[in-house]
Amino acid sequence: MPQKSDVSSFAHQRKGHLFIVSGPSGAGKGTLVKALCAELPDVWVSVSVTTRKPRPGELEGVHYQFISETEFDRLTTSGGLLEWAEVHGHRYGTPRAEVEQRIACGYQVILEIDPQGAFQIRDVLPRTVLVFIVPPSMDELVRRLKGRGSETDEQVAIRMQTAEREMALVGKYDHVVVNDDVSRATRELVEIIARYADDEES
Ligand code: ADP
Ligand code: 5GP
Repeated sequence: MPQKSDVSSFAHQRKGHLFIVSGPSGAGKGTLVKALCAELPDVWVSVSVTTRKPRPGELEGVHYQFISETEFDRLTTSGGLLEWAEVHGHRYGTPRAEVEQRIACGYQVILEIDPQGAFQIRDVLPRTVLVFIVPPSMDELVRRLKGRGSETDEQVAIRMQTAEREMALVGKYDHVVVNDDVSRATRELVEIIARYADDEES
């Protein structure tokens, strides 16, 4: 994937678009977005800021930019965030400047964010494409969350409650992808992105 210094590499190729990928924790958003990046060279994934602490194995600037409450306050008051929301007791937000720059340069920009953030963005940027990733079943969601091993049992229970609430919002999304199989679901996601990116009118 092109680095920051190559930000204009895709200018004059496909027109840039903004895609939001949401879905319950453990549905496989991260897995599918990673697979997607290997398939489409003009995809760029935004790195959010968060006030939550890194989990073991998470890297600064790769998974998130981990910032203090004070730094987060500064970003919200200065208009530095395109959207932000509180999820599971921590604040998360999308840095505005690079997202706008990447879209202008012809990238297909992906935000992996929760539904509160998705609807905030769609209110101000109505052409944003909203994609919801769902697990094949809620039992499988619990299996994936437990199998990932990154949350305690208590955190898994909280995520399952949030998942029930989020699944009720599926009808507000433009596309729903069932992540039953990583290769198949990635192919579906690639096709959705290509449909907009290749359409001169969108
Ligand atoms: P999210 O980003 O939505 O929280 P992850 O991408 O971290 O979810 O996936 C949660 C867990 O489920 C991970 O351990 C991942 O390897 C696994 N997983 C993802 N997609 C599938 C799939 N189609 N079948 C089985 N396991 C999957
Ligand atoms: P986690 O802490 O498990 O990485 O993420 C928790 C939730 O926060 C997920 O639903 C994830 O999509 C969401 N999230 C991550 N970054 C952002 C962001 O920048 N904005 C919003 N609104 N949600 C985010």
